[in-house]
Amino acid sequence: MNEKNDRAAWIKARGARCSLPAKPRAFPPRLILLGAPGVGKGTQAELLCAEMRVCQLSTGDVFRAAKSLCPAERSPAINEALGCMECGELVPDEIVLTLIRERTHCLRCRGGFLLDGFPRTVPQAEALTELLAQEHLRLEAVLNYTLPLAILVRRLSGRRTCADCQAVFHVSSRPPHVADRCDHCGGKLGQRADDQPEAVHVRMAAYVHSTKPLIEYYADHGLLRTISAEGEPERIYERTLAILDA
Ligand code: AMP
Repeated sequence: MNEKNDRAAWIKARGARCSLPAKPRAFPPRLILLGAPGVGKGTQAELLCAEMRVCQLSTGDVFRAAKSLCPAERSPAINEALGCMECGELVPDEIVLTLIRERTHCLRCRGGFLLDGFPRTVPQAEALTELLAQEHLRLEAVLNYTLPLAILVRRLSGRRTCADCQAVFHVSSRPPHVADRCDHCGGKLGQRADDQPEAVHVRMAAYVHSTKPLIEYYADHGLLRTISAEGEPERIYERTLAILDA
């Protein structure tokens, strides 16, 4: 039995069984990570998931996985989503919400969950609130990571991602042990199309326009916890744990 998290059921949805031995918990962690592209949400999600044994549920991962499907397997909606993603634009809410509804089983997980990259707009957040209420599930907190824009752009341009397992590295702050190879699975590291300079610009604009209003939405719901994302991932992680303990 896989003692680590099993994200296959999230990535593939229909037909994929989860092998996570989800131990029922009195208070399963149910968290959302917010923050601009490049703020380091993915790295914090990995660290939190390893500690809490919950799954990192990333909508970006689902779209990236869909890229490797052959054209006949891709629905028109997925093709539209991939087109948006390539240029750094947000995928339309309806497509994202369909994908989330197909994966409600992951939200019900008795071990909890960690949403990374969803919700990204207020309508997505409202739909999630409704879905969780229908399922009688309660969010624990929304962690909002913050960092100045200039540092964000530097982080994104140096980011390298494993083509196979999606692990994230950085040319200077988190280099792999072997150049261009993933430390975890040996897969080839590359720069995501949406980490190219033009796409980064579009993504930042999308963040300011669509995702920043979420901060107010979750503050109003009393769930927002703001964390500085300056410094090494380990320091940011310590701040995260301190916030969660509090
Ligand atoms: P990420 O890996 O979270 O940065 O997502 C990569 C890309 O996938 C984004 O730039 C969007 O094009 C798309 N995407 C992922 N999640 C969402 C979402 N919740 N809403 C809209 N677009 C999304």
